[in-house]
Amino acid sequence: MTEIILYETAAPNVARIVLNRPETRNAQDTQLLYALNAAYDRATQDETVKVIITAANGPHFSSGHDLREGDPLATQDGYDPVTTATGYRRAGAEGRQAREEEIYTGFCERWRNIPKPMIAAVHGRCSTGGLMLCWPTDIIIASDDAVFEDVTVMLGIPGAEMFMHPYELGARKAKEMLFAGAHIGAQEAYERGMVNRVVPRAQLAEITLALAQQIALRPSFALKLAKQAVNNVQDAAGRHAAQAAAFAMHHLAHSHAMEVFGTPVDPGGVNKRVASGYTKGEEPWRQKAQAS
Ligand code: ZN
Repeated sequence: MTEIILYETAAPNVARIVLNRPETRNAQDTQLLYALNAAYDRATQDETVKVIITAANGPHFSSGHDLREGDPLATQDGYDPVTTATGYRRAGAEGRQAREEEIYTGFCERWRNIPKPMIAAVHGRCSTGGLMLCWPTDIIIASDDAVFEDVTVMLGIPGAEMFMHPYELGARKAKEMLFAGAHIGAQEAYERGMVNRVVPRAQLAEITLALAQQIALRPSFALKLAKQAVNNVQDAAGRHAAQAAAFAMHHLAHSHAMEVFGTPVDPGGVNKRVASGYTKGEEPWRQKAQAS
């Protein structure tokens, strides 16, 4: 069976973790997220690792959450929670929120606070939940073909679970991204400060590794403290409270969609995404309707 997350020692003191579900454009299902979390834990606990690279195989970095996954409340079975969230099997908003507190916001916060520098190498499309795999890292290197987007508003949801849009892009661009589903190209992401460097696609891996090796020359404790100091600036300015408020609104929207459509996202929006995301007739809301 193909490993969905690859773990490599790219150079001395540098771990390289690779998303390896290219056939789904690295869509994130529960298995992939737990495997990624385990890989980060391995790199965190390995004292020889000083810098962690996150990269992706296939044409795109990540197409976002895998909405084709089955009953979301059952998919948590078999995984040991890494946060204090509980009640995954409970009905309604309680179970839904618990699951997202674990595998989305819980994982993202956990990864953001790994006390080692993390670099994401992003190419192709990085859509919606895909943002939640690069935003928790410290440095983003984008290839010139990279495109970032958040399509949740079309699905009736006011932003991906990790709500960093205004911090990454500024308030106005964040609104355009959310309201209009605007595509943010690599160059624009660079100009907004969301991306550190834009490099040719063919050199993405090489340039990312060179930066990681340069960083790995510094003392690990100073790197840890420098990371913490910068993260503290965002947290002291209210990032955590803003995240919690956005997450509450996110779940209000999920509950609204359940009440109106019987699915956690607006199926009309899912339908509009068929061209780029789903095979017509296999949308998750349609499968649920057929099953009932
Ligand atoms: Zn959600």
